Amino acid sequence: MVELQFTPPENIPAIVQDLRQSFNIGLTKDLSFRKQQLANLISFCEEQTDAIVQALQKDLHKHRMETNVGEISAVVDECKYMIKNLDRLAKSIYTKKRFQMNAMDKTYIRKEPKGVVAVLGAWNYPINLLLLPVVGAIAAGCCIVIKPSEVSANTADLISRVLPQYLDKRTYTVVNGGVPETTALLEQRFGHIFYTGNGAVGKIVMTAAAKHLTPVTLELGGKSPAIVTPDADFNITAHRLLWGKFFNAGQTCVAPDYVLVSKEQTERLVVAFRNVIREYYSTNPQKSESYGRVVNTRQFDRLKAILEKLDPKSIVIGGETDRDELYIAPTVISPVSVNDAHIMQDEIFGPLLPIVPVKDMQEAIDVVNSKEQPLALYVFASSAQSYNNILNQTNSGGALVNDTLMHLQELSLPFGGVGPSGMGSYHGDKSFDTFTHERSTMIKSTAFESVIAARYPPYTEDKETVLNFLVFGFPSSVGGKIKTFFRACSASFRVLFHKQSNA
Ligand code: NAD
Repeated sequence: MVELQFTPPENIPAIVQDLRQSFNIGLTKDLSFRKQQLANLISFCEEQTDAIVQALQKDLHKHRMETNVGEISAVVDECKYMIKNLDRLAKSIYTKKRFQMNAMDKTYIRKEPKGVVAVLGAWNYPINLLLLPVVGAIAAGCCIVIKPSEVSANTADLISRVLPQYLDKRTYTVVNGGVPETTALLEQRFGHIFYTGNGAVGKIVMTAAAKHLTPVTLELGGKSPAIVTPDADFNITAHRLLWGKFFNAGQTCVAPDYVLVSKEQTERLVVAFRNVIREYYSTNPQKSESYGRVVNTRQFDRLKAILEKLDPKSIVIGGETDRDELYIAPTVISPVSVNDAHIMQDEIFGPLLPIVPVKDMQEAIDVVNSKEQPLALYVFASSAQSYNNILNQTNSGGALVNDTLMHLQELSLPFGGVGPSGMGSYHGDKSFDTFTHERSTMIKSTAFESVIAARYPPYTEDKETVLNFLVFGFPSSVGGKIKTFFRACSASFRVLFHKQSNA
């Protein structure tokens, strides 16, 4: 295991101060500078692919394919999207004015960077979850403190040593550390804090942000259910559901956490699961190159403790573990009761999949609604009526029908939680917006001052007539229009004449 160099906490205020100075002199405001940095980030991903693959292999036994698909390709794709769309995204938006008094003026929304921002990543996808928000922040023109998770130490080490060779050091800095360093970081004032990780630390982040009234994005987790309806294609369901469950050994924020299926179909699903696990990882998944490991002994012991508390008869597939290798077999547990004390309370975040048999789909919906709003909800169904019935009666950060994880890979869809699974969202345009302050701007004309002067004190009846006309315009009837026009004109003359005779 690599010895990750932590940033001394006492250096952190100066690091943020330096970034603020770079921001204040406008380095990141230039769109071509941002595009160049995004291009540099692409170069980092492309030239360092092997190093990234190796670091993730060491951290999580992640297969090259999972690293390419789940970590690198999304960052490259997002950079390319931002380079292509930056001019459009950064362009001011002119508004259609509604207040008659402003008819002669210019009103628009300037897209301005939020300043110096902090991006804190999580260990399970240590490239993707750190660098995807960074892409949005670079595009928006922010200066960034980039904080990798110290838990995936090999990847954090690579990022802190190599990424600065690609990005402008004056505007982007990598900070490493655990709790003391992150605490010192969160004490600083930022324009935005973007945090990915568990909800308990999410509360710490939000509390720290509240001290400076800093806006936050919290990308958290939760128990994401998969509902298998009676009309689902069981073969496809088993393949896609287990692919998403055991990708990265179940350590995915949107991994299906538990399965809801009707009592009559449970055994059929277990059989399909058994076949698919054998097909994916052979009869001994420990030997499979395609199967990952738990990140560290702390997480391993937590998952093992769950396994040991379960009824051994309910472990219908897998259950084997090897602490030296941080290996936990792809494991299916069935049947599990909906409020099981050991596996149905907290997010599992590992390769254990409980099956909860239900009477019917209404009971499945009730189970979902009895728990906190999840980050993702998966439905496997053939008919639109069947899945719409479930989508219409439930709530979740995102929803995906007939697959798992793929909605996260689709960067045209904003990604984020709801309630305890998070706040705010990102990917594509949403990432740009997250790090952008929409500055409402008005350029007032200095013409027609004598009419506009009707709003100044001392207030008179004539001024009120002129103001009413300027504010409310003409009534709908033709007679009303004519009357209002003459009344407003004569009042304007009187206001004007009075003003001039007073001058
Ligand atoms: P983690 O331990 O890597 O922590 C995330 C970040 O928080 C790290 O940068 C870490 O240094 C920092 N941190 C940890 N403790 C802290 C403290 N006391 N004070 C300040 N900062 C602290 O990751 P994790 O939380 O174990 O990640 C797993 C959780 O994250 C799961 O719940 C998972 O669902 C969730 N998650 C969500 C998403 C998403 O996109 N919504 C993605 C991945 C993981």
